[in-house]
Amino acid sequence: MRFPRVKQLRSKLSSAKLLGIVAKNSLQFKLRRTALKRFRSRERQFTTIIVDMDGTLYDTDASLEGLSICFPRRWGTGVSRGEKIYESMISKIAAGESTIEQAIIEGNTLFVKRGFQKKNFSKVLARIKPRIRKPLVMALRKLKSEGKTIVLATLSSREFALLMNSYLKKRFDFEFDLVVGTELEYQDGRISGVKSIVGTKDFEINGVPVRSKLSAVREELALIGKGLDVNTSALITDSYGDIDLAKMLVTILIKPDEPSMDQRVSQRLKLADFIVDDGPGLEEKLVEIILGAS
Ligand SMILES: [Mg+2]
Repeated sequence: MRFPRVKQLRSKLSSAKLLGIVAKNSLQFKLRRTALKRFRSRERQFTTIIVDMDGTLYDTDASLEGLSICFPRRWGTGVSRGEKIYESMISKIAAGESTIEQAIIEGNTLFVKRGFQKKNFSKVLARIKPRIRKPLVMALRKLKSEGKTIVLATLSSREFALLMNSYLKKRFDFEFDLVVGTELEYQDGRISGVKSIVGTKDFEINGVPVRSKLSAVREELALIGKGLDVNTSALITDSYGDIDLAKMLVTILIKPDEPSMDQRVSQRLKLADFIVDDGPGLEEKLVEIILGAS
């Protein structure tokens, strides 16, 4: 019973992000596309691939799994308190009563209160392992061997993303060149606060600095001596929560087998450069798009 429920929630999350962000961005997206004339350009040579984590690298959400572990008690319906909390946060974002950044702060406050231990990240990983999109990982491995720089960029915890990266290395012999995400603070092995957030734009919330994914990736690539050229970078994602990045980069949208509202809307608005089914041929299709059909 857990899987359909998670799907439902995820689809709700995507819709929440979508309704708030896409409407005002879609026109800008299309204008930029036309102006830059890089839409499906034949001469493109990608150097950098930026990959979203939740809903893209795997078919669930790390904060949903974290909350379920933190608040495991189930109600009559079999839904954990953690899932309930997650659902209420998403509903608030959808209703415009909360922003994604506020939700990150709020969720983290719960983890602090609950004494969430750093080592619990491995429990989150254990729950997510079976839901990793192996064909995507295999495609990334191939692309890396062709010299591409592969970046994992998430609004979720960087600490968790790093743990995921070492698991990928062990299990699939692939690792991201760079991992960008929200940084938490720890005290005695427990989460004690938020140091910096990767969010939807550059600003500050409750004294915590927030960077958009684009800014974060650009700044951290510079730290390892690499630049970010938007004309030779591509984004692989599952939803237009990443619209700010999608406006700037060639975007590949992974469409799960049961299309959620955001996939349907995204297709109608033609906001992605490529929409790829999460099914047979995903690996080959991704490689073909990035390396170009020969
Ligand atoms: Mg996502």
